[in-house]
Amino acid sequence: MTDTGCTLQRLSSSATCEVHACLGCGAVHLTIGPMTWRFQPERFVEITRVVAEAVARYRALNLDESATAGLGITAVSRPQ
Ligand SMILES: [Zn+2]
Repeated sequence: MTDTGCTLQRLSSSATCEVHACLGCGAVHLTIGPMTWRFQPERFVEITRVVAEAVARYRALNLDESATAGLGITAVSRPQ
């Protein structure tokens, strides 16, 4: 992780990602692979709510998830 000068306390982690709280500035740090995003806590809560809702709706679609097995994490740019 890049040194941001923050004092981090791990909140949760997995093989894919980790989440820390900064004890200094209060930001939430979300790290996925080599990238870390820093959020205001309320923005992090908003994003996790949206992702949780998307997960529930995705599961309701009952798609064949084996088709995405090789994707891992892929960055996709939005068209301009
Ligand atoms: Zn900080």
